[in-house]
Amino acid sequence: MVLLFAALVLPLLAQRNGVSISPSLNGSLDAINGRNLIGHVQKLASDEFEGRSPGTRGEDLTVKYLVKQFKAVGAAPGNPNGSYIQNVPLVGYRTTPKIELTVDGKPLPFSFLDDFVCDYPRMTSGLSIRAADIVFAGYGITAPQFGWDDYKKTDVRGKLVLVLSGEPSRPLGEDTTKLDPGFFKGELQTYYATREFKYEQARRRGAAGVLIIYDPETSATYAQFQTFAKLEGQNLKPRHGSYEMAIASLVTTDAVKRIFNAAGKNFDDAERSAMLPAFRPEKLGVKADISLSSKLRYFNSRNVVAKVVGSDPRLRNEYVIYTAHWDHLGKDTSLKGDQIYNGANDNAIGTAQLIEAARAFAAMKQKPKRSVLFIATTAEEKGYLGARYYVRYPLYPISKTVANINLDAGNLFGLTRDLASTGYGNSTMDEVLASAARSQGRVFTTGSLDETGGLYFGSDQMEFAKAGIPAVFPWSGVDYVGKPKDYGDKVWAEYGEKRYHQVSDEVMPDWDTKGAVEDTRWFVIAGYLAAQSVERPRLKEGSEFIWISGRPKEN
Ligand SMILES: [Zn+2]
Repeated sequence: MVLLFAALVLPLLAQRNGVSISPSLNGSLDAINGRNLIGHVQKLASDEFEGRSPGTRGEDLTVKYLVKQFKAVGAAPGNPNGSYIQNVPLVGYRTTPKIELTVDGKPLPFSFLDDFVCDYPRMTSGLSIRAADIVFAGYGITAPQFGWDDYKKTDVRGKLVLVLSGEPSRPLGEDTTKLDPGFFKGELQTYYATREFKYEQARRRGAAGVLIIYDPETSATYAQFQTFAKLEGQNLKPRHGSYEMAIASLVTTDAVKRIFNAAGKNFDDAERSAMLPAFRPEKLGVKADISLSSKLRYFNSRNVVAKVVGSDPRLRNEYVIYTAHWDHLGKDTSLKGDQIYNGANDNAIGTAQLIEAARAFAAMKQKPKRSVLFIATTAEEKGYLGARYYVRYPLYPISKTVANINLDAGNLFGLTRDLASTGYGNSTMDEVLASAARSQGRVFTTGSLDETGGLYFGSDQMEFAKAGIPAVFPWSGVDYVGKPKDYGDKVWAEYGEKRYHQVSDEVMPDWDTKGAVEDTRWFVIAGYLAAQSVERPRLKEGSEFIWISGRPKEN
């Protein structure tokens, strides 16, 4: 019996560079082509769709289009209620925050946009907090994983917490040119350095608000929030009874230096002391009056969810989840000329790849063992809200969710020999992506576009990672077939500078879909391998998400 079985199986499995590719998977890859991909992008990124902002006519058109496409490719409704829709209750806000600072009763100049920008205000039409103490709390990080605690049980309830951006580091022994990789991952950025993590640390401690220090000279982040201030911000509708800080925001280094000086302190000294484990939070002797007036808008947005059911009677209750955010920045009516943020690259192409990946799975004669979910998420641009909502209110248990593959800003510059993934080292999905790349005769690298690891914290996969799910954000590489060596770096840098989050992110006449097609096949092969393998993907030793998610290491 065993021998007969082996004789039957062997001819069926094609070995491609040591990776087993079933004829069913192989055949499905032909279903993916550039014409379909571009067709979706042209539609989603058209002016008619108004930049796909959640809670607008652009959302209605987008959701309708996605449902129609998922149906057309033969993917089943992903919501157990029989629909393709998961409602996501959101709040839109436009807010004018005011923070008035005083030292010994003397006012300090501190103005919105020039000195600070608002990320998340409390979801209320107005509030006023008087004389909150400002406390400098170092990096604002408590991370038992690295024996680090900036707060040291300091009571920051009702206070405005001021924290550095980034995370601590220390030299590797005597060698001061290298950072210790065993401490906050050395040169790599960890989740502890994100705004999100720092906000949550302050919120949990009952702070009135938090200001994270950014230098606009060295970081583009601050300027991005100056742009966001002109657009509607959005957040998940707060959970009943959960505490919200008055304000979570960014502040410039210059403004912070002025505050320290006025308080008779030196910011450079404070910054240095924050590098030391013995650091303790310090009250600056500066008071803050915080007031907000906001226009709120409650509405239902939607994740669009499709499903391909697995073939194994037991494992079909486990899920590999693909995500791609359908939303973008909408339009800015204060702009002269073009007002629409079309978001062709960000993320009409990822959404198109999601639809085509669903087509490939639906076309497989023999489905993989596990089920596969395709979620076009809402409000990624507003802070991964659709993905966060899904993880908070999953349609299938999180414990049965084995992996997340997130598609954001696909490659339309041509075919690459190399492939990469952000967040390398966090889970065994690295090896899955590497196998899939090898089966295509392509090389998987550790992340050439992402030298510090920061990109990993920039899209929906983050919400899955926080829940302890092996999650990846794969990237095409930089080594383009038939192009000069510096082409890859050049085109991506140019995109970042001239089109990313600008109204010029539109369908380009010189796009080359060969890369996008092969990359979509790569995503499909990787998802298939994860859905098919006996062993579930798991987090790797040393990943901060083991700690963040509070999941046991055995996973
Ligand atoms: Zn994006």
